[in-house]
Amino acid sequence: MIRYLLLLALAGAACAEKARFDNYRVHSVLPESEHHLRFLRELEENNDFLFWNDVRAVNASVHIMVPPHKTAQFQEIVDFVGLKSEIYINDVQKLIDAENNNPAARSGIFGWNAYYRLNDIYNWLDSLEAQYPGVVSVVVGGTTYEGREIRGVKVSYKAGNPGVFVEGGIHAREWISPATVTYILNQLLTSQDPAIRDIAENYDWYIFPSFNPDGYEYTHTTNRLWRKTRSRSSSLCYGADPNRNWGFHWMDGGASSSACSETYAGSSAFSEIEARSLSQYISTIADKLSVYLSFHSYSQYLLIPYGFSNAHISNYDTLMDIGKKAINSLSQRYGTKYVVGNIVDVIYVASGGSMDWVRGEYGTPITYTYELRDTGRNGFVLPAEQIIPTGEETLDSVLTILQEARSVI
Ligand SMILES: [Zn+2]
Repeated sequence: MIRYLLLLALAGAACAEKARFDNYRVHSVLPESEHHLRFLRELEENNDFLFWNDVRAVNASVHIMVPPHKTAQFQEIVDFVGLKSEIYINDVQKLIDAENNNPAARSGIFGWNAYYRLNDIYNWLDSLEAQYPGVVSVVVGGTTYEGREIRGVKVSYKAGNPGVFVEGGIHAREWISPATVTYILNQLLTSQDPAIRDIAENYDWYIFPSFNPDGYEYTHTTNRLWRKTRSRSSSLCYGADPNRNWGFHWMDGGASSSACSETYAGSSAFSEIEARSLSQYISTIADKLSVYLSFHSYSQYLLIPYGFSNAHISNYDTLMDIGKKAINSLSQRYGTKYVVGNIVDVIYVASGGSMDWVRGEYGTPITYTYELRDTGRNGFVLPAEQIIPTGEETLDSVLTILQEARSVI
């Protein structure tokens, strides 16, 4: 009984208050040996500190958030192992407060100078259907644990086009992803640039700004740094990682069976209703898809399948070739530098992702996962002033991918 009351109290507190990150720091730590890597992987598994990026390789920095009350403990650990550490973010709360302070966010007029709530995005999608009759149609790709729609749009100027699927926001805290996806959608409808008009009108687009609406809303109302879904099992911890839950090589490395882990793969493949219902939706249009693009943040990578293995897939050379051209296009406008490669080669093993499932299940030829800006100075909390530049440079690269894809699909 007492435990039950305690649980209720905890649940109540979680609803009532917004998590604050006053004086939380993000340290960039540099592993210089295999021993360092093993140590950092173990530290991550303990869930004592929130890791903002992955433990990848020797000389690839790892970003770890340290609460003020754990500063001494963290310093002791770093000193003991002999890790070099530098402060990247001095106060996470200050960054969060400044991130979205543009009053436009509360004006109800949708745009790209602020980050918007789910309903603002959905209302905007609905308005597009009214504004572009016969071109834009609202589609529902699935349902969430808390009963929200997973709403998207189909954009089609004519019959018989090859299909492009655009997925945003599967990880809740990566706000630049839905913002970039809606930016691209808006450009497809409004740009007068002949090259953009060409890809807009000669592909059919299936665009979903948020694959994880419950999580996204939770990052607005309660915890800015939430990543997972909001499902509840018997465990004390909520949610699973919706990008470790898809049923192709599920739990085949780089995913956790511990419910409290940030990369918890779920109790079974497609245990999460979001991944399950979206997979069913994608199945209905899979024969029309030539391209699948998934948007995450952060780290500035352009990734190709698979996440469970770095064995070369059948068109590895083509995807690498197009990918290199795409990141070159992306760098032209603002000098933003990306790295292209197989997920395992660039980051680390990560199984159960949506792109792996689409590729594995349907053999969709052109598949990429973006890790958008930045490289860690703001991390997930990218200031709203960067939405438009990020959208512009990303669209430059999408244009290249779709132009190049024509010769191979
Ligand atoms: Zn992500």
